[in-house]
Amino acid sequence: EFGSDEGDEDDLAIRPPVVTVMGHVDHGKTKLLDALRDANVVDKEAGGITQHIGAYQVTTEVEGQERRITFIDTPGHEAFTSMRARGAQATDIAILVVAADDGVMPQTIEALNHAKAAEVPIVVAVNKVDKPDADPTKVRGQLTEYGLIPEEYGGDAMFVDVSAKAGTNLEGLLEAVVLTADASLDLRANPEQDAQGLVIEAHLDRGRGPVATVLVQRGTLKVGDSIVAGPAYGRVRAMLDEHGDNIEEADPSRPAMVLGLNAAPGAGQNFLVVEDDRMARQIAEKREARERAAMQAKRRVRRTLEDFMASMEKGESQELNLILKGDVSGSVEALEDALSQIDVGDEVSLRVIDRGVGAITETNVDLAAASDAIIIGFNVRPQGKATEMADKEGVEIRYYSVIYQAIDEIEAALKGMLKPEYEEVSLGQAEIREIFRSSRAGNIAGCMVTSGVIRRNAKVRVLRDGAVIQDNLDLASLRREKDDVSEVREGFECGLVLRNYQDIKIDDVVEAFEMREIPRD
Ligand code: GDP
Repeated sequence: EFGSDEGDEDDLAIRPPVVTVMGHVDHGKTKLLDALRDANVVDKEAGGITQHIGAYQVTTEVEGQERRITFIDTPGHEAFTSMRARGAQATDIAILVVAADDGVMPQTIEALNHAKAAEVPIVVAVNKVDKPDADPTKVRGQLTEYGLIPEEYGGDAMFVDVSAKAGTNLEGLLEAVVLTADASLDLRANPEQDAQGLVIEAHLDRGRGPVATVLVQRGTLKVGDSIVAGPAYGRVRAMLDEHGDNIEEADPSRPAMVLGLNAAPGAGQNFLVVEDDRMARQIAEKREARERAAMQAKRRVRRTLEDFMASMEKGESQELNLILKGDVSGSVEALEDALSQIDVGDEVSLRVIDRGVGAITETNVDLAAASDAIIIGFNVRPQGKATEMADKEGVEIRYYSVIYQAIDEIEAALKGMLKPEYEEVSLGQAEIREIFRSSRAGNIAGCMVTSGVIRRNAKVRVLRDGAVIQDNLDLASLRREKDDVSEVREGFECGLVLRNYQDIKIDDVVEAFEMREIPRD
């Protein structure tokens, strides 16, 4: 398993938290990332951060100690979500930026939901406090309603008032990040082992070839290491940091721009150091083949979906829109979180367009009708004319009282849009060397397995001079020496009997194959 073995407790050292900045558009995410880059207090002599490599590290002083923090240099939650969609989690802590003059807005809540779904602790940066109409207290009140309760109100979220523009209280924000990490996370990694981590971004540079910014998550990456990054591979020729300086090593949580790969991997793909270049190449080629197969499978699925869509009367939408209503906010959140975990690939998507606590109302039905949504009622019933209206408008309302039942049904509905696809996988071949006639069993073929494996339960076909003369047969028996066996591998002799097929000759080839369901991911 990727990154699971970190050695002994004694080998672990504290690593800096990795932070993503999220929030509503125009609330100051970019400005804040710029300001923090300049506020890199301790590291000023290093010449400042001059390169945008996709992530940077700053050093701050907390309780007399120098502490480092890594920032992912892409504002917004797209980067965060697309990484999570790949199963990668780069972020330890989310900074939720809320403009104090504007307050909580839709994307604030979206960001909050993403961080919650990922179980990442949140530090709130209440920004733009320099503005005359700034109301930081109001922001605290609004977020409290969404379950994010400030420490000063007895909750466990740190809220810090800042001005990204004026550079006010950025140290306070950095301190809050460090304190939150210390309080709720155990961020340690073994710096001694071979490095592993994630690709933050990569591109093809005219002069330097493929360059990738990686975030080291475990171990230490060194110049000269052979690495695999997604389907790319190579030997680390040089590494640059965010100051534009060459570095020899990158320790846990350190971002570094890596030169020397043969191609640019995708953001969110993992990288790891392997024994040598040959191994790197082999693993990379396997990964590439796997990705290609997954792409092909996806293309096949897409055709199936298109057929499905065409057969639907209102066939334009590939999105299942949902409106969630529940008895308490906790159940709505739990339902939404669980729904967000359903994985049905890229072709069908599930979108929660509205959620709320209380009975299903006519307003809910209205919205559902307008946006072709299904309403999920969790421990709630409709109110007033809502049912009547839903019948008239053809809006579907489903009632549940158990979360898993709701999830199972919705998942089944989504998967129902995608019929399973199978592909044939050849297992192996055997040459018929002798034929024994048995009055009881029929013709027994004495074979030599010349490649792969022959399995008792596999499908088989008979080839003569390279052409298929009979397809899709079963084995009636498979033996080695006198014993019934489940499989016989390459280089061994066996005796086999084909079910309901006797017309075999010496030198015929029996090929075993299997139909496998193509995974959808
Ligand atoms: P983003 O969309 O969240 O990345 O927001 P930006 O960083 O692009 O900021 C949006 C606008 O708000 C810009 O015009 C910034 O100059 C301004 N802004 C950001 N932070 C502050 C702040 O602390 N105070 C004031 N007055 N303006 C700010």
